Amino acid sequence: MESSNKVILKNLTHDELRDYIESIGEKKFRANQIFSWMYKNAITFDDMKNISGDLKRKLSEVADIGNIEQEACFESKIDGTKKYLFLLPDGNIIETVMMDYSDRVTVCISSQVGCRMGCDFCASTKEGLIRNLEPWEILDQILKVEKDIGKRVSNIVMMGSGEPLDNFENTKRFLKLVNEEEGLNIGYRHITLSTCGIVPKMYELADMQLPINLAISLHSPFDEKRKEIMPVAKSFKIEEIIKAAKYLISKTNRRVTFEYSLIKGVNDSKKEADEIAKLLKGMLCHVNIIPINKIEESNYEKPDKSFIYKFRDELESKGINATIRNSRGSDIGGACGQLRRKYKKNLI
Ligand code: SAH
Repeated sequence: MESSNKVILKNLTHDELRDYIESIGEKKFRANQIFSWMYKNAITFDDMKNISGDLKRKLSEVADIGNIEQEACFESKIDGTKKYLFLLPDGNIIETVMMDYSDRVTVCISSQVGCRMGCDFCASTKEGLIRNLEPWEILDQILKVEKDIGKRVSNIVMMGSGEPLDNFENTKRFLKLVNEEEGLNIGYRHITLSTCGIVPKMYELADMQLPINLAISLHSPFDEKRKEIMPVAKSFKIEEIIKAAKYLISKTNRRVTFEYSLIKGVNDSKKEADEIAKLLKGMLCHVNIIPINKIEESNYEKPDKSFIYKFRDELESKGINATIRNSRGSDIGGACGQLRRKYKKNLI
């Protein structure tokens, strides 16, 4: 590809950009201007008004800003949630979701094209992992949403396609970039990273001592059942995951979330609720119940509403803080990764 040898400027921190601009024989203050333009959503060097023509030409020979392109956007008539399909430079497509609550705007971003974790109920994993996203491709989802809605994004959830801890180096760089003061400046406390429980990386994340929110996909308190629905459970036992979560809490003092996708007749009985309560007793955590979103490729169904409430009440009665995630944008493409799959199959 033409741009493959070029430095992608959105991959660089502010300091790194200053060094880079100096290395091509320019004054450091130029880097401040360029950095600021990138985060004001300049798409081309020509959009950078106070940069000289000479520098624009020089930059376009050696560098790219790094842009993903909006391929499609679907807006929910129910709650204004927007789901985007973005086109990457190599032709791959990823999915991003924007939820506008009046006091905050949350964006759900993807970290990989596809996923290799293989969870039975998840559409993102059905074709396996296609590739990791580069840090700038993770970041640019937020910038392109801001451009589209004309508003600042306040919160990030890494809950789109992909397993962020399976693309950890790029995720770490993304976390640094998104926190840059002169850039998006989104504080770690406003970022949630969701993992299916890759234990060694959870320790690494804990040792970074970032005050981000960690969400862990539990989906069953029993290893055997978990293995049936999440192949990654064959590598890491629940006991190990809980130990790693406790270590992270000791390092960050942040409350951990356990995600629990509730599937009718599979993981929704009192037996499960009792065991979760035993497992999580006394931990700085809460359980977020996600009634399963049906996908074409599996027969799993949502439990009836009364069952969902009963499950939550069961946990609450045992002293476990539990909430039910209310599904947004249900009229525009359902669960994680489903929109992209349907789009690729020309079904929408
Ligand atoms: N790889 C990360 C992020 C996945 S998406 C992880 O495993 O945590 C965020 C959450 O949505 C995870 O808990 C995931 O298991 C869950 N999820 C995926 N597909 C779903 C579906 N169809 N219905 C309900 N929850 C789903």
